[in-house]
Amino acid sequence: MTMSYSDTQLFIDGAWAAAAAGATIAVVNPATGERIGSLAKAGIADLDRALEATQRGFAEWRATSPFDRAKIMRKAAELMRERAEAIAPLMTAEQGKPLADAKAEAMAAADIIDWFADEGRRAYGRIIPARAPGVHQLVVKEPVGPVAAFTPWNFPINQAVRKVSAALASGCSIIVKGPEETPASCAELFRAFHDAGVPAGVVQLVYGEPAEISSYLIAHPVIRKMSFTGSTPVGKQLAALAGQHMKRATMELGGHAPVIVFEDADIAATAKTMAMFKTRNAGQVCVSPTRFMIQNDAFDPFVETFVETIKTVKVGDGMEQGTQMGPLANDRRIPAVEALIRDAVERGGKLLTGGNRIGNRGNFFEPTVLTDVPSGARIMNEEPFGPVAIINRFATEEEAITEANRLPYGLAAYAYARSPKTIQALGDRVETGMITINHLGLALPEVPFGGVKDSGYGTEGGADALEPYLVAKFVTQAYV
Ligand code: NAD
Repeated sequence: MTMSYSDTQLFIDGAWAAAAAGATIAVVNPATGERIGSLAKAGIADLDRALEATQRGFAEWRATSPFDRAKIMRKAAELMRERAEAIAPLMTAEQGKPLADAKAEAMAAADIIDWFADEGRRAYGRIIPARAPGVHQLVVKEPVGPVAAFTPWNFPINQAVRKVSAALASGCSIIVKGPEETPASCAELFRAFHDAGVPAGVVQLVYGEPAEISSYLIAHPVIRKMSFTGSTPVGKQLAALAGQHMKRATMELGGHAPVIVFEDADIAATAKTMAMFKTRNAGQVCVSPTRFMIQNDAFDPFVETFVETIKTVKVGDGMEQGTQMGPLANDRRIPAVEALIRDAVERGGKLLTGGNRIGNRGNFFEPTVLTDVPSGARIMNEEPFGPVAIINRFATEEEAITEANRLPYGLAAYAYARSPKTIQALGDRVETGMITINHLGLALPEVPFGGVKDSGYGTEGGADALEPYLVAKFVTQAYV
């Protein structure tokens, strides 16, 4: 299919602009390795302009009623739906995922915006009975202030839309540092908000040197809150910075999701579903199923069906009809994934399928299955962020739960079982921000999305997602 990829500019104070210093960064198509465009690289002068605008934007937006904010947000959602077909090829060209997945991401963004628009209208305060007559004690929910957000390349729109929507619904303005590898599709989200009538200065989009931008924005007095999605090591650095400057922080970091399959589950159906799910976005998903634990008697049939299914996944350019898995999104991922697989095999893990890069043009990688990998292997402890499943065995429920909780990560967990007692134990005892049992049910706008332990804190879905953007201000008044 033909498509024209456009260069991406910064969106500051309601207008698209080149960087003041004229600097740019190249954008590469991960399916071909070719440069397809460029994006403006912000410097401090651009950030200062964004900060000044965001302060003005905040004053205007906080004074806009939740009813009117919701109307504008719903219009933006409609624009995303209307434009999803046109946005999809931009995302596929820069990120690699199949066109259908890219379109689905743009459509899902619309649902997220709609949900937050309505939820903002329900950010109620409360009245607390007073001890003295004539006193009224009010809790008023106020927006915390201008927000700085940092979003990654695996879901260029989805990662940004949750933060922007929660900020807008709460009455905050926001500066997003978008993903440098995948800027054009992310920019379309901001175009939709602008075209829908979000006033100048309320939403801004910048790109550049991530460390330079985050250290400048988080420390800046205009910014009152930050939110980051990315790896745990970077998240820890940014959380420390936020702490140093007394800024609120939401951290959506890495995961290493356990998948616990008991003998009484439907083994063939589970293996098929999970093999396809593993290859979604080429495994570059923070909630990707990674550490499979299969109860002893189910191990062989599970592995057989899983391998059979994953071998059928059609890997190719996301632009081509029928492609089910695109390339890895950037060339850093190939040596990273290869090293993890090599280490697992050297330590005695069995490589049943995959393990290699495909060809030498673009970042294509074979869907890969490792079994019987010892827990000391790097891949059993580090997020592979690629299309690699590790399948091991367990005997008892206790053993499975202990292994699930072994790592410092706790983002998503998956389980398949029939016994009600087991289902309850999994829900109670797996240390995770989210667990989905006997179906795939994570990441809807109306349910919490977030982790525990080293996977971060705060939630980016459900009613709780507004709280980090709101201050519960106490006003007590006596009538005299
Ligand atoms: P990375 O750790 O360098 O970067 C991860 C993300 O953080 C990128 O979007 C990057 O732009 C941003 N970043 C890096 N340093 C930053 C800083 N000082 N300030 C602000 N933002 C900063 O790694 P990478 O090679 O881009 O991605 C690989 C790893 O990142 C993966 O292994 C995975 O663990 C993690 N990751 C997680 C998610 C997620 O959805 N949670 C998304 C993308 C990447």
